[in-house]
Amino acid sequence: MAAQTITDMFSLDGRVALVTGASSGLGRHFANVLHEAGATVVLAARRVDRIEAEAKRLGERARAIALDVTDETSIAAMFEQLAADGVLCDIVVNNAGISGEHLILQMETDEWDSVIEVNLRGPFLVAREAARRLVAAKKPGSIINIASILGLRVSPALAPYMASKAGLIHLTRSMAFEFARYQIRVNALCPGYFETEINADFLKTEYAQASLKRVPQRRIGDLHELTGPLLLLASNAGSFMTGEALVVDGGQSINSM
Ligand code: NAD
Repeated sequence: MAAQTITDMFSLDGRVALVTGASSGLGRHFANVLHEAGATVVLAARRVDRIEAEAKRLGERARAIALDVTDETSIAAMFEQLAADGVLCDIVVNNAGISGEHLILQMETDEWDSVIEVNLRGPFLVAREAARRLVAAKKPGSIINIASILGLRVSPALAPYMASKAGLIHLTRSMAFEFARYQIRVNALCPGYFETEINADFLKTEYAQASLKRVPQRRIGDLHELTGPLLLLASNAGSFMTGEALVVDGGQSINSM
């Protein structure tokens, strides 16, 4: 592969990025970052009013489309609609995710099922469809699965969340292995704590505040601190990276205390 300038390496000009769960938090931030780096962005989520407003705010090179990652029909409809408009996504950010809040002994089966369905089955379905279309078009691509450091370490009352994220990290490796021959890279991004709707209540708890004291950098992350890692995985700057689980956590996961 020929060497490029640093600006060209990180540029996403001419690329099309799909971000699931783009109606809030990390997903909305990722859509903004990818757009600023030059990509056309497709913001996909269930809360269509929110993503439509965000796409409008971003202006050119942004569109919103309804998506429920638990519903195969919804996924197929989204890709069909994009294909009908001649849009092929060559960056996919599997960001949609939910959490649970019960200890295993008190947990209903529904909580397990719904977390696994959104966090593990959803990324599988979206990545499979996106990759099938890239392979058919003979186009390279980059798939980024938003996992978590909780896919690598353990915390109480989040069993299905942690199992889904650990599964997503290993699914990332499986897909990276199978898709490499098609020039499709697949990586996981594993954030530590960043305040969003998913954890705003949790972060107020005494347990969370005590955990943050064990983060070597002694704070939660700021969304802009995920910008560089995301761009590295999405762009040609990360062209020899695949199957990686990139941790961005202020050192939280290196602390065994
Ligand atoms: P968030 O709740 O703001 O975002 C999650 C998004 O996923 C929401 O917009 C939600 O509507 C969407 N979503 C949920 N179910 C969906 C479905 N069935 N179909 C489509 N969209 C759906 O929280 P966030 O923190 O921005 O989370 C984004 C991702 O980052 C999640 O996968 C989460 O597990 C991961 N993550 C977050 C943190 C953190 O500290 N915030 C840390 C590690 C990993």
